[in-house]
Amino acid sequence: MEDKIWLSPPHMAGNELYFIQDALNKNWVTSQGENIDEFEQSISVFLKNDVNVCALNSATSAIHLSLLMLGISSNDEVLTSTFSFCGSANPIAYCGATPIFIDSEKDTWNMCPVALEEAIQDRISKGKRPKAIIVVHLYGMPAKMDEITAIAEKYEISIIEDAAEALGSTYKGKACGTFGRFGILSFNGNKIITTSGGGALVCHSQEDKDKAVFLSTQARDNAPHYQHSHIGYNYRMSNIVAGIGRGQMEVLNDRVEARRKMHDFYVDIFKDIEGVEVFSEPNEDYYSNHWLSAIVIDEKIARKNREDLRLAFLEDNIESRPLWKPMHLQPVFADAPYYGTNVAEKLFDDGLCLPSGSNLSDDDRLRIKKVITKFFL
Ligand SMILES: *Cc1c(COP(=O)(O)O)cnc(C)c1O
Repeated sequence: MEDKIWLSPPHMAGNELYFIQDALNKNWVTSQGENIDEFEQSISVFLKNDVNVCALNSATSAIHLSLLMLGISSNDEVLTSTFSFCGSANPIAYCGATPIFIDSEKDTWNMCPVALEEAIQDRISKGKRPKAIIVVHLYGMPAKMDEITAIAEKYEISIIEDAAEALGSTYKGKACGTFGRFGILSFNGNKIITTSGGGALVCHSQEDKDKAVFLSTQARDNAPHYQHSHIGYNYRMSNIVAGIGRGQMEVLNDRVEARRKMHDFYVDIFKDIEGVEVFSEPNEDYYSNHWLSAIVIDEKIARKNREDLRLAFLEDNIESRPLWKPMHLQPVFADAPYYGTNVAEKLFDDGLCLPSGSNLSDDDRLRIKKVITKFFL
């Protein structure tokens, strides 16, 4: 059996071990230290925006904190993209609030502005004004931020931007993760860069960042003993893990370039295969990091379906995966309201994520191409 080709494996740069060793040498084996400070600083420089970054143990924690900082609690409603990973929606449940799921539009596969406004008006008519919008940039593709921001401003609802998959993506030249009141990044093992597990909350003031640090380190009041006037969380990133992040930040631009090249590789393979569309930017306003390359197969034209392609890959020990199953179809969210026209549902039925790692070899690409060519023969 050939070696496994993974969907999106970690890709170390080289200096990660140096920064970890440095933390051990200096005995900063805790949730404070130079690695955390430098990692946060390098992210804020990369985002090219005057932002204050708080490194945390996951993006899921970052979303939870952002909801808490917006004052979300039980009986509140929060709008979010149905077409996403559960990490976008679960923190709404942690707050005891209700997720309201919004369908995708066809251009970017992200939150549909039309369905969003329809949902807001309907919730308001039922006496339930939504408290926040969590908008996701799926697979690195920026959402329609102009339209979504205009609606959010019209109804005075704060935006939390789930850019867990979109570090390195831009919309009209501005970095994803810097549009909302809060931005979310993930450094989970499968993301474009990783700290093995980790995340960040992107804030727009030192005050918000200080509050995030406070809440993520058990909300300890200023006193010699342990004194608490708030419920806190143990969500801060460790200084060891941040050392991996520092090493990874040195090569982030290369990683974006490599992922975008994987997208080009698939565009080239599929250009002559009828009925298959490679997920691509609708126009120059959108710049995707192409974290994952994805296709949709029109079964009527291609006379093939995504599940058979997935199995063909599997036979050659190559990992591929259906697109995210929409959250409103998940048993755990069966009772949550949903607004849309089943765009995400159709994408889930017909779509497949393809191996997208930045460390794939030419041999790996050859194997992938062979499977695809044979399958669509
Ligand atoms: C990965 C991911 C998350 C969660 O990130 P963690 O760091 O694993 O908690 C949230 N939202 C989206 C869209 C993701 O892809």
